[in-house]
Amino acid sequence: MVEPRKDPYTYAHSSACEGEGGCTGDWRSERPVIDPEKCTPTKNQKPSCFLCWLYCPEGVISRSIPVKIHYEYCKGCGICAEECPTRAIRMEPEA
Ligand code: SF4
Ligand code: SF4
Repeated sequence: MVEPRKDPYTYAHSSACEGEGGCTGDWRSERPVIDPEKCTPTKNQKPSCFLCWLYCPEGVISRSIPVKIHYEYCKGCGICAEECPTRAIRMEPEA
């Protein structure tokens, strides 16, 4: 007989870790910049959304207020800007 799982929320899962792929910030030609006036958790001072954190393949966006990006490892892929529902993230060319 198969025993029922004790914790229904435990399952095989992996997620990106900061710096796992090396210093990926060197790859970047554009950098994501967050507009705090448009970012929902920052604007409302309440934890919500964090879709950028969820989708970032480098795991370099904080789930915090304000939301922050660790530029040493952000590779500039632009996924966070694509996924942000309020268009709070814009990609700016590196100087
Ligand atoms: S996805 Fe956009 S609105 Fe949501 S937390 Fe990230 S920057 Fe803020
Ligand atoms: S551009 Fe956005 S999604 Fe891509 S690595 Fe940087 S913070 Fe993460």
